[in-house]
Amino acid sequence: MKFEFSENMKNIKPSEIRALLKYIHMPGMISFGGGLPNPETFPDEELKNILNDIMENYAASALQYGQTDGLPELKEQLTGYLKADENISVSPENIMITTGSQQALYALPIVFANRGDYGIIEAPTYVGMISSLNANGIKSTSIDLDENGMKTDELEDRLKTMRSMNIKPKFIYTIPTFQNPAGYTMPLDRRKHLLELAEQYNIPIIEDNPYGDLRYSGKKLPTLKSMDNNGLVTYLGTFSKIMAPGLRTGFTVSQPEVLTEFNKLKQALDLATDSLSQYIAYEYIRKGIIYKQIPKTIELYKKKRDIMLEALDDDMKNATWSRPDGGMFLWVQLPKEMNALKMLERAIANKVAYVTGSAFYHNDPELNTMRLNFTYSGDEEIKDGIKRLAKTIEEEKASL
Ligand code: PMP
Repeated sequence: MKFEFSENMKNIKPSEIRALLKYIHMPGMISFGGGLPNPETFPDEELKNILNDIMENYAASALQYGQTDGLPELKEQLTGYLKADENISVSPENIMITTGSQQALYALPIVFANRGDYGIIEAPTYVGMISSLNANGIKSTSIDLDENGMKTDELEDRLKTMRSMNIKPKFIYTIPTFQNPAGYTMPLDRRKHLLELAEQYNIPIIEDNPYGDLRYSGKKLPTLKSMDNNGLVTYLGTFSKIMAPGLRTGFTVSQPEVLTEFNKLKQALDLATDSLSQYIAYEYIRKGIIYKQIPKTIELYKKKRDIMLEALDDDMKNATWSRPDGGMFLWVQLPKEMNALKMLERAIANKVAYVTGSAFYHNDPELNTMRLNFTYSGDEEIKDGIKRLAKTIEEEKASL
C-alpha cells in the first residue's frame, strides 16, 4: 500500500537525541549525548519489595483501569510531598497524574493555545516542548537565556511589542531550575519579575521542574508555583529523576479549571496513567523511600558534575561552559565560527558523542552550542570523554 501521510506529520522532526542514542552502544564510545539518569540511582531492591506488597494487597486495583485524574491515594501523598519539598500548598483537586511530565508538555499547549497561536519559550529549551509545539501547530517566540536563566527584561520588551501588534501569547514555558539543556538557574529577583509580568499581561506560566530535587551546590530557591498567589502557574513534576523514568509517572499541579480541560484531552490520549506505576509511586512516598533515595542520587551526581567541571577546567581551551548547581546537564559554547553539528562526525570518529545545541531551539538555532550530560557515564569515562572532546574541538578549529 502507498500511504498518504498528513500534512501535520511534516512538521514533526525526528528527535536528534533519539537518533544519537544508537552511538551510546557503539564499542568504546563515550556518550554525553543522552539525558538518561544513571541506573545506579534506581531503587531496585526497594521497588521489588513495593511490587510484592502491591501484588499482595492491591492487585485488583493496581491491574485495573484507573481514574483519568490519577490514583486518589497518590494525589493525597503528593500534597504532602509538594508541601515538604517545595513549599507548594495544594489539595488533591489541584493535581493530575500524568504519563511522564512529557504528557503535560504535549497537552498543555493544546489546552491554552489554538493552532497558529504563540507560546513564549526559552532559547534554548527542552526538546519535548519543541516537539509538542510542532505536533500541535503552535508557534513560539523565544527569549534568550543568560547564566541567570530567562532574560525577563527581554521578555518584558517582547510582551510590549507583541501587545502593540495585537498578538497575545497564550502561555510562557520555563524551566527555571537547572534548565535543560543549559543548566542555568533563575535567581529570585527574576522569578518575581516573571510572575509580575505574567500577572500584568494575564498569561499562564508552565513551570517545568524535573530537576529541582537534584541540587549539588548553592541555596535552594522557591519554585514559581510556591510564590504564585494568583493561580498563574501550572507546575510540572516527575518521578523520572527521583525514582525511575521507565515507570512514566509525572504530575501536573494547577487550578481545577485547567485540569478539567486537561482531563478531557487525557481521556483521548491514554484514559489514565498506568495504575501499577501509580501504586508504586504512592508507596515510594508513603514509605519515605523517596526522602532516602534523593540524597543518594545527589551524592552520585554531585561527584560526576565536579569531575566533569574539573576535566573541562583542565583540558578545554576553545570553549566556555555553564557551571550548574544541579540537574543533569551543562551547556558548552564554542567560538561563533564553529558548528557543533558539522563537528559531530569528527567527535564520533574520536569516540565521543554529545547533543548539538541546535536541537534545543525552536527558532534561530545557535550552531556553536552543545549539551553535555554528566550523570550517565562512569567517572573515568567523563575524564577521558572530555579529553576526546577537547581534542575534537581543537582539530575542528584548526581545520576551519
Ligand atoms: N521536561 C524536562 C525539562 C525534561 O528534561 C524531561 C526529561 N528529560 C521531561 C520534561 C520529561 O520527563 P518525563 O516525561 O520522563 O517526566
